[in-house]
Amino acid sequence: MSTLFLRTLREDPADAELPGHKLLVRAGYIRRVAPGIYTWLPLGMQVLAKVENIVREEMVRIGSQEVKFPALLPREPYDATNRWTEYGDNLFRLKDRKDADMLLGPTHEEMFCLTVKDMYSSYKDLPLALFQIQNKYRDEARPRAGILRGREFIMKDSYSFDVDSAGLQKAYDAHREAYIRIFDRLGFEYVIVKADSGAMGGSASEEFLAVSPHGEDTFVRDDSGYAANVEAVEVPQAPEMAVTAGPAHVEPTPDTPTIDTLVAALNKDHPRADGRDWTAADTLKNVIVMLVHPDGTREPLAVGLPGDREVDTKRLEAKVAPAEVEAFEEKDFAAYPMLAKGYIGPGALGESTSSHIRYLLDPSVAIGSAWVTGADEHGHHVIDLVHGRDFTADGTIQAAEIREGDASPTGHGTLKLARGIEMGHIFQLGTKYAEALGLKVLDEHGKLVTVTMGSYGVGVTRAVGAIAEDNLDDAGLIWPRNVAPADVHVVATGKDEEVFVKAEEIVRELESAGVEVLFDDRRKVSPGVKFKDSELIGVPTILVVGKGLADGVVELKDRRSGERRDIPLAEVVAEVTAEIAQPARTL
Ligand code: ATP
Ligand code: MG
Repeated sequence: MSTLFLRTLREDPADAELPGHKLLVRAGYIRRVAPGIYTWLPLGMQVLAKVENIVREEMVRIGSQEVKFPALLPREPYDATNRWTEYGDNLFRLKDRKDADMLLGPTHEEMFCLTVKDMYSSYKDLPLALFQIQNKYRDEARPRAGILRGREFIMKDSYSFDVDSAGLQKAYDAHREAYIRIFDRLGFEYVIVKADSGAMGGSASEEFLAVSPHGEDTFVRDDSGYAANVEAVEVPQAPEMAVTAGPAHVEPTPDTPTIDTLVAALNKDHPRADGRDWTAADTLKNVIVMLVHPDGTREPLAVGLPGDREVDTKRLEAKVAPAEVEAFEEKDFAAYPMLAKGYIGPGALGESTSSHIRYLLDPSVAIGSAWVTGADEHGHHVIDLVHGRDFTADGTIQAAEIREGDASPTGHGTLKLARGIEMGHIFQLGTKYAEALGLKVLDEHGKLVTVTMGSYGVGVTRAVGAIAEDNLDDAGLIWPRNVAPADVHVVATGKDEEVFVKAEEIVRELESAGVEVLFDDRRKVSPGVKFKDSELIGVPTILVVGKGLADGVVELKDRRSGERRDIPLAEVVAEVTAEIAQPARTL
């Protein structure tokens, strides 16, 4: 450490919010260059290399071969798949000196697909799995939490190539197993969640989420082991019910543009015949948003859902992608005079009405159910408007918020909500990219077939961030053994040169036994500062060489439990190797 390029900080960096991020900066692992862009310092490089190697080993184990594509890429392949446009503002676009459009790769499906097309032409060449560990660039709208969401970051991305869907399923399953081994080895709690609505069938896409209160993804789970991203939860269609409501009737409801004011007015002026109070769940709320398609066209969309629920923006965005969702503004209302703001009802919505606005209902709105909803006239609502009898929609949409306690779609109990950080994503792409780029091979009958692909990603730099967030205390980081920058941190303390000579001897012995050592040999630094630094840096085992030497002992300290014990000098190597052989943490 007397020569290590390191300067630990006692103060938290001003621009860091999460505890792990603060500690990574303070302990000298990373340094910020610009929002979402970080420099890796020597200690950080050690951790990063270990994470990369775990990922690499598990990829190689399933027969995937390592390659490396450039990050700087031409535009054309991304035009062929429309991603030059679809990626929107997240794509870093640039021009070369000849004015040709270039990009910094956000992910590499196109490049892998084209290279395989260049080199292979027969079913005999497949199956094939390739991977790389490489820099990716995304101009994230909210780079946050340091390396958890960077604008330059390292991803392991792999791609599988098969002639048929059985082959793809096999490649997918192999990757799933590899990911389980990777995340077991990395040292954080994780769940595997269904990631898409299953439109492609089965488990076409799953995400590996690190369970963390700092996560940006919300996921649900039930007691049967089902887990899904909120975007992927499929609320079952409510079964058709017998109509019990009388004829629909429009009533004046002045000054009730919100659900709360409406419910209060209904209970005061229009009490229910059955004696119970009206609640927000009896109302049908119609929310209008503006979809912006990749080519720039704007299309309004109306979502009808029970008034006690909000539209979940992430769920909605997942359903309308690649279109983006914007607010329906005052000027948009001006273009649709049939919409009475605050009193919009199904009468003005739907492709066959005068507004032509596509109208999609939440699946909880059963055929036969009766609602209070807007009467399309300022200050008026309609009561007992029955779905299927008095109004219809253009379809359904899974865009309402999911709440803790909702019935699980599996039929097993209720849903619990938790937060996670997306660490990995496995995805059966199918023929989408191969078709767009013309990746075909001859099958055994000499017929051209389109190759089917899978795509699989792990956030390597993000993993370092997630491990840090999940392994720390007030004093600093506490690395899981598999990714720690060293096996043991030897701290020499004292004024006597003798101590440093002895400590160096111990370090040499440990190193020749294959132990990785971080050695604090700083002569002019106080023991207090050294202890603080050792806790901040977070090597899981700390060996203090100092006062005890007089009695022939050194102190072995466990960073996580704080437990310390003296061990005789003669047993240092045996004790330390035994210590590091056992897992530092059982999950
Ligand atoms: P997110 O939803 O968090 O933006 P994503 O779904 O866009 O991620 P993928 O395209 O599936 O991410 O990329 C594969 C993996 O790369 C992710 O599972 C994640 O671990 C990692 N990753 C994605 N974006 C970033 C980023 N900005 N910084 C660090 N790692 C990232
Ligand atoms: Mg993803």
